[in-house]
Amino acid sequence: MSLYLEHITQRFGQTLALNDIDLEIRNGEFLAILGPSGCGKTTLLRAIGGFAKPTEGKIRMDDVIYSGNGKMVPVEQRDLGMVFQSFALWPNMTVRQHVEFPMKSPKQKHLTEAQKKEAVDAAIENMGLKPYEDRYPGELSGGQRQRVSLARAIVGKPSILLMDEPLSALDAELKISMRRVIQDVHRMTGATIIYVTHDQSEAMALSDSIIIMNKGVVAQIGSPQEIYYHPNSEFVADFIGEANFLKGKCVTLEDGCGVLQLEDTQVRVAATENMAVGEDYTIVLRPESAGLVPEGNLKCRVVLSCFMGAYQNYHVMVGDTLVKLTDYNPKNHRIYQVGETCALTFEPDGVHVL
Ligand code: ATP
Repeated sequence: MSLYLEHITQRFGQTLALNDIDLEIRNGEFLAILGPSGCGKTTLLRAIGGFAKPTEGKIRMDDVIYSGNGKMVPVEQRDLGMVFQSFALWPNMTVRQHVEFPMKSPKQKHLTEAQKKEAVDAAIENMGLKPYEDRYPGELSGGQRQRVSLARAIVGKPSILLMDEPLSALDAELKISMRRVIQDVHRMTGATIIYVTHDQSEAMALSDSIIIMNKGVVAQIGSPQEIYYHPNSEFVADFIGEANFLKGKCVTLEDGCGVLQLEDTQVRVAATENMAVGEDYTIVLRPESAGLVPEGNLKCRVVLSCFMGAYQNYHVMVGDTLVKLTDYNPKNHRIYQVGETCALTFEPDGVHVL
């Protein structure tokens, strides 16, 4: 079943937390929601979960309306499970009791006691919690606690799992290993996962699609590759990964390339669909997509050159514009030192033009 959000608007007094959001989330999709603090990520998740009633708009699962048209289906009747950053575990309940809890819901009354036990056993087993099933949350590590909350979310086999920064309370190493657990949950359950995070690498590593939100609207939606290589705005380019912006005017179009005048030099870029001579454009240059050469058109001056082990980090000035570069193969390249003058080079199709 697909989830549809139609014209979802959420106001809190003067604050427009969600502004006319339209979305289709396909059955089984892993969708990450990314965006700066206060952009409306949690509000969107809460609207889907039924924790808040949108001011306007409709949320439906295929033809079943969850909110809108005067209806508001309560949280416990929606076909979804939730995982929170704070784990939301009860200190006086054991691991097994947590996982059994959703099976007491009227939603599960069609199951026999034996089927419920089987579902609980499977969720405990799948989350690697068998050795700890009689322990209380206070006797578990952070990763184990989050696995309890995942087991509790999946035991009732919901169609949708809502995850609100589920890994952000964990330390860096554990976060990486828990990504695999989240991937396993997605693979095992086939559920649609809607995953709010601040961590762009987590979003890219896990999701099929990413939504970048800004000020209550969807700035862009696409696969991680689309968002990274073809951002639709400077906001998105800057938000996901690192980006340099070079401004130029198109002076010629030839052989599928546009020639842009940048400062006192010209560079070739792959032409965009509507590129026109005389118009101003912004080149989005990822730090790893450009290199330095001793001589070339796009002169620059090195202002920072740092060896970082796996890569060499450069900051160079192209006229008045600071450009950050990463050379992932410094062993095989000449290292440029601070103060040197050299040139910036990139492939015409190695950049994105806005
Ligand atoms: P963060 O990444 O910091 O968690 P977010 O993107 O999840 O932020 P939301 O929590 O959705 O942002 O908040 C969106 C906006 O709505 C913010 O301006 C916030 O202050 C406001 N807001 C959220 N909940 C309420 C509320 N219950 N009452 C009033 N304003 C609220």
